Amino acid sequence: MLEIKERLKVLIIGSGPAGYTAAIYAARAGLDPVMYTGLQPGGQLTITNDVENYPGYPDGVMGPQMMTDFKKQAERFGTDVRHGIVERVELAGDFKRVFIDNGDVIETETVIISTGASAKWLGIPSEEKFNGKGVSACAVCDGFFFKGKDVVVVGGGDTACEEATYLSKLCRKVYMLVRKDHMRASQIMQNRVEKTANIEVLWNTETEEIHGEDHMTGVRVKNNQTGEITEIEAQGFFVAIGHKPNTDIFKGQLDMDKYGYIITEKSSTKTNIEGVFACGDAQDSVYRQAVTAAGTGCMAALDAERFLVEKEVSVVS
Ligand code: NDP
Repeated sequence: MLEIKERLKVLIIGSGPAGYTAAIYAARAGLDPVMYTGLQPGGQLTITNDVENYPGYPDGVMGPQMMTDFKKQAERFGTDVRHGIVERVELAGDFKRVFIDNGDVIETETVIISTGASAKWLGIPSEEKFNGKGVSACAVCDGFFFKGKDVVVVGGGDTACEEATYLSKLCRKVYMLVRKDHMRASQIMQNRVEKTANIEVLWNTETEEIHGEDHMTGVRVKNNQTGEITEIEAQGFFVAIGHKPNTDIFKGQLDMDKYGYIITEKSSTKTNIEGVFACGDAQDSVYRQAVTAAGTGCMAALDAERFLVEKEVSVVS
């Protein structure tokens, strides 16, 4: 027989700005939330550097510091933050079952999903071959290893600009490969790239192959307009082409769009299953900001609280 470790009112999956904000609100409402942090405690902000656009930090704040502060605030009101990965869920019924990687099975009246999104990869074989041997998706984590060297950054969004600007301070030269003749990044980020002398943007350019022996030594790129092939000597290759929502464990139970973002009701965090709420990047393919994630985390906790109150009232009456 299945042994249930405990029964909760609110279980939060994921520990980015959405999850922690949901935790702060749920804890202050006396719902004794438990949070499972997931694979990357603190979420994507732990692998970013300066956050300059989160209100309340006029001088900016380092991403990891911000997430430490979020955690402290959630714990201050009694959130039980646990290191662990949710492997499987059964969301139907009054008590949702959540299966943790240590073998624990927990039942909970509500689930708040704040599992965020993860970096996307190009999907070419040499990218996998040299992962950790020059290939990375995080300049802040790995940039240090490329001090004084030449590196390549792929992508034309804000992440790519941010990674390129960060690396430009450490590396001799940064090549940015942008597959179109324009960038998707915000103007301010593009201006920073333009003003940085050691960043060279290669437009209409795609990666053919990363090569080397033990460690990568170069990249073969192709101009998709002229077909011209160029060899770039580089010791680092940073992929910054966007993100994929971490929602695989909910497939088949929750409604999602074609990219895997969880669909929530308009002006709410309600999913297609009662008692299950989604917030942050797991359900937001449009804004994807720390501050919007935090906002929807707050909404999810309020939605969960209301759901529990209404459930109690309907049981009593
Ligand atoms: P985006 O989806 O905005 O950009 C992805 C970029 O990668 C695009 O230029 C895209 O090209 C390119 N790309 C996608 N797939 C490939 C591929 N297979 N090969 C080559 N290039 C590819 O993702 P970001 O991660 O940059 O940004 C996500 C969100 O986070 C945005 O809303 C952004 O504003 C925000 N953000 C904000 C920051 C800040 O304010 N400090 C920092 C970082 C992100 P194409 O345009 O051709 O599709």
